[in-house]
Amino acid sequence: MDALREEVRSVTIEIMRLVGKRLSLVRRIGERKLRKGLPVENLEVERRLRKMVSEKCEAYGVSLSFGLRLLNLLIEEGKRIQKEALEKALEEKGGLSSPYAVFARARQIERSGRSLIHLEVGEPDFGPPEKVKEAVADALNRGYAHYTEPAGIPQLREKIAINISQRFKTDVSPDQVMVTVGGRYAVFLCIASTLLPGDEALIFEPIWPAYANCVREVGGRPVTIPTDLENGWEPNMDLLLEKINKSTKIIILNNPNNPTGKILEEPVLKQIVDVAREKNLLVLSDEVYSNFAFKPFKSILEFPECKIVYVSSFSKAFGMTGFRIGYAISDIETVRGMTRLQKLCLTSVPEFIQHAALAALDCPEEAGEYAKTVRKRMSLVCSALRKLPLSYYDPDGGLYVFPKIRDGKMNGEDFAERLLTEEGVCVTPGAAFGESYGYFFRMSVCQPKDFLLEAVKRMEELLG
Ligand code: PLP
Repeated sequence: MDALREEVRSVTIEIMRLVGKRLSLVRRIGERKLRKGLPVENLEVERRLRKMVSEKCEAYGVSLSFGLRLLNLLIEEGKRIQKEALEKALEEKGGLSSPYAVFARARQIERSGRSLIHLEVGEPDFGPPEKVKEAVADALNRGYAHYTEPAGIPQLREKIAINISQRFKTDVSPDQVMVTVGGRYAVFLCIASTLLPGDEALIFEPIWPAYANCVREVGGRPVTIPTDLENGWEPNMDLLLEKINKSTKIIILNNPNNPTGKILEEPVLKQIVDVAREKNLLVLSDEVYSNFAFKPFKSILEFPECKIVYVSSFSKAFGMTGFRIGYAISDIETVRGMTRLQKLCLTSVPEFIQHAALAALDCPEEAGEYAKTVRKRMSLVCSALRKLPLSYYDPDGGLYVFPKIRDGKMNGEDFAERLLTEEGVCVTPGAAFGESYGYFFRMSVCQPKDFLLEAVKRMEELLG
């Protein structure tokens, strides 16, 4: 026994020595990529590695699933090291180290006293309905300031179940619902309770970057599938199938999409669900923008053929971003796993905030008015943008437009920086939503109409 343990120790040390050697090689490759201006990710190289490791697993008595997860951890660590070096080099050159550097610059400018038009955030300018504000005060006066059940107070879970069942003509029971700290935390809980280190998540790009960040945070590997403007941001099913392997556990959808405004149509959703069922994958569908749909909208809840986690929120639909309350709907077992994690991290959503959400569900007229306002602004902005040298998809829903700067005049980061410093308008560079979208930028329609039109005028001045 002692001799065997000694051997295990020395094999482990040998593995660490080899990992160190691998990382130092990866670092050297990173330096060359930097010199040649090559991207960090090379999917073809990864594919060949994966194939080779798959072939060796059996010969070495390692299960394929473990072998591939281990390989993914090594690949991700290598990419992290190369990306860090790239960002450092950019910073030293004085450029924007990440798309988010624009926001830091915006704050700097505002501190100097200049006012800006903010189109970079997805935060509706309309506040919560009056009834919601009254409900908060009332809840506090009645002493609703305690811990609650980790999955949420029963009356809120029940009301969400009824509301959603009616809205999507489905049959959700209260114990399939859990109340979370915003849609964002529901996304994290789903990913953290589904993925093991090295597992893969499929994500259609461009998309809200939090999904990939959550996947990385739990040691998983985001595998992105690009979509493009020229094809109306339609997901490519062949690419989806190509990217599925033994490590794939989850497909992530954002519908309507942030930043493109694309709504997935029924046949596409059906195809994705069929693939998920066949390959035994979970579909996480984040539908926080579904209240802002400018054409018929189908929820993933209408396709119960595969395992799903539906995510929604009070933030956008009811102007309640600062309340931090959202919810997830799934099968009872999955809800239990996610609830366990929420209980571990934060016990529950604050009690009085849950009462505010109960009141919000009694405000369909107000939510309908908000949606109408957004729709009007969107059509106004889209017609104003038409005169500019930009190409974009007329959003089917959501709060954003995602234009591409034509003729490669400027990339999204340069445009965002100049628009900010020269014209006082803040937008988000497209690279924040995926590596292939360097010539895009995202603008939200969360400001009053005059501000939006003024912002487009200033864009015109910059683009000529
Ligand atoms: N999901 C998407 C696609 C988002 O864009 C955002 C916020 O911008 C969220 C979720 C977060 O919503 P919440 O405020 O409910 O956490």
